[in-house]
Amino acid sequence: MNGRPAFLTDGDLGLRPAADGVSPWLREALAEEGEPMPAPPFSGSSSADVAIVGGGYTGLWTALNLAERDPSLRVVVFEAHTCGWGPSGRNGGFVNGWWDELATLRQLFGDTAALACAREVAGSVHAIGAWAEREGADIDYRRAGMLTVSTTPLHDGVWAASVTAARELGLAEAFRELSAADVADRCRSPRFRGGALMADGATVHPGRLTRALRRACLSRGVAVHEGTSVRRLMRHEGSVRLRTDSAAGSGELRAGRAILAINAWAAGWPGLRGRVLPWSSWMVRTEPIPELVRDRLGWTGGESIVDGRFSVHYLHVTSDGRIAFGAGGGRPGYDGRIGRSFSDDLAAGRRAATGFRHLFPDLADVRLTDMWGGPIDVSGNHLPQLGTLAGGRVHFAIGYSGNGVAPSHLAGRILAALALDADDPITRLPIVGMRAKRFPPEPLLYIGARILREAMIRREDGEEAGLRPAWWLRELTRLPRRLGYHLGPW
Ligand SMILES: Cc1cc2nc3c(=O)[nH]c(=O)nc-3n(C[C@H](O)[C@H](O)[C@H](O)COP(=O)(O)OP(=O)(O)OC[C@H]3O[C@@H](n4cnc5c(N)ncnc54)[C@H](O)[C@@H]3O)c2cc1C
Repeated sequence: MNGRPAFLTDGDLGLRPAADGVSPWLREALAEEGEPMPAPPFSGSSSADVAIVGGGYTGLWTALNLAERDPSLRVVVFEAHTCGWGPSGRNGGFVNGWWDELATLRQLFGDTAALACAREVAGSVHAIGAWAEREGADIDYRRAGMLTVSTTPLHDGVWAASVTAARELGLAEAFRELSAADVADRCRSPRFRGGALMADGATVHPGRLTRALRRACLSRGVAVHEGTSVRRLMRHEGSVRLRTDSAAGSGELRAGRAILAINAWAAGWPGLRGRVLPWSSWMVRTEPIPELVRDRLGWTGGESIVDGRFSVHYLHVTSDGRIAFGAGGGRPGYDGRIGRSFSDDLAAGRRAATGFRHLFPDLADVRLTDMWGGPIDVSGNHLPQLGTLAGGRVHFAIGYSGNGVAPSHLAGRILAALALDADDPITRLPIVGMRAKRFPPEPLLYIGARILREAMIRREDGEEAGLRPAWWLRELTRLPRRLGYHLGPW
């Protein structure tokens, strides 16, 4: 290999993440809006009915739900940077249901509750598109299903348990197996083998979705403060006090309820530590190549695609004919900190580029133009956790584990209902108040996660090359499962 990573072109090797950490999605969406000024930072003292920390999908859907349920409510959103600066403006654009998680959901919650959860998330897949249409927002919503494909004989059938579960629960069409020929009809790659199709899958332009949500919130009277970090939450005489910092100075807001919608940042938040592990996910994007996508890959149906790795590759075609390609095998963060490695990690970015080159050798002449990364919030059972902290006035939704676009829409409805003490059936879904197995304390967590990450990558890279993992590598990568986490390969 003479020191050069396999498959990468000279152009790939020259590619760098943007220095300001802003993803191309958000950059494009801001340019389309005419580079608006950020919303004013917060300082001084004030009060509100509900204060929301975090201006990503979770925070904005919650704010929108609250404002629509009761227009008289004073709702305030605090965002440390710009709305969508976090993963909501950086993600892979997959809006997918949970039918591919059905076997796990059944095991954890039983048939009835598993179905209730999967139906609600499928409802969100549809509702996001319907909302954008009502709102007149162009978010590039395209509902064409999600393909899970195998790229090595060792991953054949990774979908089998959930396909069986869907069939047994009378929803065979929700997640059904495809032959290798069916997969090739949808997208040609010399690596793709068989697969499975989930009908409830769509794609969006992540930047446009966040900005559309932000506009919708502002138009309903939600107060948004960007460039404002919430440093502390305190309970005080029947209310919550939020201490903030911004360029305008420090501030204090008294609110009846507070919502923590801070994704991977929750790993460092008192009361939520140990519930999620921050991990980086990295993406690259090609130049626009609509003709090549059609002629060389025959990928014209708009399906999003994931492979069978735990350090998953995820890809879709954008409305301007680019391939957006992600790789989940980034790195863990230490002690709940979201440091520079989440936005400036060339090695992790190049893993995504290598994945793209590996799956599509027929596109060797295509340029990659963008590279970026961000944190995901891995929870012990790979599912989001919603709940209420001691005292009953602070609600949270975290732990999407890199699959938050559709579930954050559901979370917004649930959090709004919790904040209003509304007797809504969705607040009784088992993901509300669920206690996933906690992660061990630092430095054990970081050391263990780094070792397991190296082992997992080694195992899955080997499997992709057709190599059966050595027994010790298989045993090591199964350790999270043996310890009771729903994480990692079997
Ligand atoms: C590279 C990448 C690809 C992904 N691809 C997909 C995909 O294709 N499909 C999918 O379903 N999911 C995907 N995800 C995950 C998905 O993006 C998230 O689950 C989802 O965006 C979570 O939304 P959120 O609002 O909870 O969090 P975020 O979007 O992270 O928003 C949280 C916000 O809180 C702010 N914040 C944190 N602490 C504070 C504080 N103290 N004060 C004020 N503000 C604060 C942050 O700045 C951030 O903007 C991906 C994630 C990444 C990183």
